Amino acid sequence: MIDFRSDTVTKPTAAMRAAIGAADVGDDVYGDDPTVNYLEDMAADMFGFDAALFTSSGTQANLLALMSHCERGDEYLCGQQAHNYRFEGGGAAVLGSIQPQPLNNQTDGSILLADIEAAIKPDDVHFARTRLLSLENTIGGKVLPQSYLADAQALAFERGLKIHLDGARVANAAVAQNIPIADITQYFDSVSICLSKGLCAPVGSILLADERLIKKARRWRKVLGGGMRQAGILAAAAQLALTEQVERLAEDHDNAAYLASQLSTIDCFTVDMSLVQTNMVFAEVVGELDITQVAAQLKQKGILLSASKTLRLVTHADITRADIDCFIRELKIILAR
Ligand SMILES: *Cc1c(COP(=O)(O)O)cnc(C)c1O
Repeated sequence: MIDFRSDTVTKPTAAMRAAIGAADVGDDVYGDDPTVNYLEDMAADMFGFDAALFTSSGTQANLLALMSHCERGDEYLCGQQAHNYRFEGGGAAVLGSIQPQPLNNQTDGSILLADIEAAIKPDDVHFARTRLLSLENTIGGKVLPQSYLADAQALAFERGLKIHLDGARVANAAVAQNIPIADITQYFDSVSICLSKGLCAPVGSILLADERLIKKARRWRKVLGGGMRQAGILAAAAQLALTEQVERLAEDHDNAAYLASQLSTIDCFTVDMSLVQTNMVFAEVVGELDITQVAAQLKQKGILLSASKTLRLVTHADITRADIDCFIRELKIILAR
């Protein structure tokens, strides 16, 4: 199988499987799992925060952040395209009684500061209390400029808002800019990072914040049923995601650029190369081509991808240059019919 659907399909590395086997464990709900404790301390140190919390998923880490920053009747500002607005089942509203206030994302993934400013509600009984600004980096594979993050932070500070980063793929954003992850996370009060995507851990995300917020988040995690017991089994692999997999992401980015350039030579597709910044490639279909039909034929050849109106292809540790060549070859054969 050659699986371009997502970087979530990456399998744990051999080193991760070995670390899982050797992990020292305890009951993490009692705070007794040394491997989880080590991971949380290490992550907090690496990214410049007081504290960290290991969570079962990125969705849970985002929800815990939203529920810890906001109370019932508060709202958070986020992008229309934000994962924690569109793709997390409305969790903040469903479980947190928190209202999302989505704002347009520009082509580069940013939200105009003027739009943020205009959406902040006055202190008035008619309105939800605007508490939090939530950004995402990378967003749709695009990197938010560092200067934009600084400006967004300044605005949030000036207006008394907290600022959260959905950094599911913040490691991709850092590698693409050749800067440490901490250079990005420095602008935020809280950050969630997925360890189970391009970084290859089988399960888990990390939430970073100050002690007070992490204490609240730990409580909500238990309430939501996310208190895990001998979670060191998972944390052992998660630790290697942070220490051994970050630099490797550069290969995924090179492969995505290569894939995009190959796709753009095929008449049926257009690829906006300026949007290929990390490990995601979006190709627009030109003309009458039934792309779902093409995807079904590719599947018979063992090649999986996401196809609706556009093609979305994600590169990751289990995709090689040869896999991309194989995909392009099979695609051309199908299109020639
Ligand atoms: C994948 C993803 C999440 C959620 O992660 P899960 O572990 O799948 O719950 C959150 N935000 C973004 C931007 C993501 O891509």
